[in-house]
Amino acid sequence: MKLYEDQLQVLLVFAKDDAQSHSFCWACERAGFRCNVARTPEAALESFQEKNHDLIIIDHRHSRYFDAEALCRSIRSISCSHNTVIVAVVKRFEWQGVYYAKKKNGDSVQQNVKMTPVIGQGGCVCVCDGQVSSWSSSLTVFISRPLTYLGLKIFSRFGVCEFLSCPEATLRSWLQIIETNYHSSNSYHNSTHAADVLHATAYFLRKERVKQSLDPIDEVAALIAAAVHDVDHPGRTNSFLCNAGSELAILYNDTAVLESHHAALAFQITTRDDKCNIFKNIERNEYRTLRQAVIDMVLATEMTKHFEHVNKFVNSINKPLATLEENGDNGDEDSVKSILTAPENRILVKRMLIKCADISNPCRPLELCIEWAGRISEEYFAQTDEEKQQGLPVVMPVFDRNTCSIPKSQISFIDLLVT
Ligand SMILES: [Zn+2]
Repeated sequence: MKLYEDQLQVLLVFAKDDAQSHSFCWACERAGFRCNVARTPEAALESFQEKNHDLIIIDHRHSRYFDAEALCRSIRSISCSHNTVIVAVVKRFEWQGVYYAKKKNGDSVQQNVKMTPVIGQGGCVCVCDGQVSSWSSSLTVFISRPLTYLGLKIFSRFGVCEFLSCPEATLRSWLQIIETNYHSSNSYHNSTHAADVLHATAYFLRKERVKQSLDPIDEVAALIAAAVHDVDHPGRTNSFLCNAGSELAILYNDTAVLESHHAALAFQITTRDDKCNIFKNIERNEYRTLRQAVIDMVLATEMTKHFEHVNKFVNSINKPLATLEENGDNGDEDSVKSILTAPENRILVKRMLIKCADISNPCRPLELCIEWAGRISEEYFAQTDEEKQQGLPVVMPVFDRNTCSIPKSQISFIDLLVT
């Protein structure tokens, strides 16, 4: 299984060709992003209206060419720009990073680049946190609120607001408050992980077999579940919380402690304030169905039930479909459909979908897989450190920062759980 992201659309607004603009073009090319270059604000606006780019990089080093902030405001006045990230390249070095630029003759040279936020009109924060790294290999922009940005984009593609009869402003507030409740101090279980799982979920929802199985309400539930599935994760595992006698472990009787907390908190946050209550306008029965589905999916991410979920899925869906194929009945669409759309099987499909999304890191391009492996290992190392300090049982002795081989631990994880 491999996951490929939609090709990112990038618009570069540079009045003149120079080493900097070349570097961005080169980085986009290397990363496989579609890139347009505009020389003037007018050309930039025209191009944006046509392509609705995901990322716009404006050259703000030379004010004599054009007014970058005015251009940003003009872009922001276009309604479809809300999900677009706009960043500026400036001369001031508030953040200084080294990247590799390529000269026309093909030589690589190291250069510094500075990125700062440009704030557009209308309160849309168009932020780049100022970190653009590894330009030599890929274009990676760390956005300060990945779940909010990606959520707005994905939810709009799936028509979630229309389904919920909810204004986009409510969805935005909801995504923001959910994102705020993720701990940015966690190296792994932060809102970037939630955005990542949301992305993978959306990817799976587009697969033909999944589409055959699920109804619109299932899709909406899956996207919501993905966004909230680790909210307020403390960066420690269930076993740690139980051993430490934490409040959460006591509240949930040592049973699916974190998953229960994520689901419960998500609904508390959502329904306690109308401003972010995305469920406010749906019917009671629909709400109950949606709520049930979201809870079921979030609880399914508990890893102790991993094999139970996988076995049920294989026995109820994979094997019957394989039998149909063996009998030469694979043309029998009705039989396939009845397996895929049986209510109990739809539940299994949704569980499998979020589980696959949750552990999909090894299916990402290698550099992202390595990055995530490093992040989860760091979170586990910190837990082991704390267990040692507090005299608690060490629940994952493999994840000791002094002895751990991250590649070996990843191979075990992939062999046991992913493949
Ligand atoms: Zn997760």
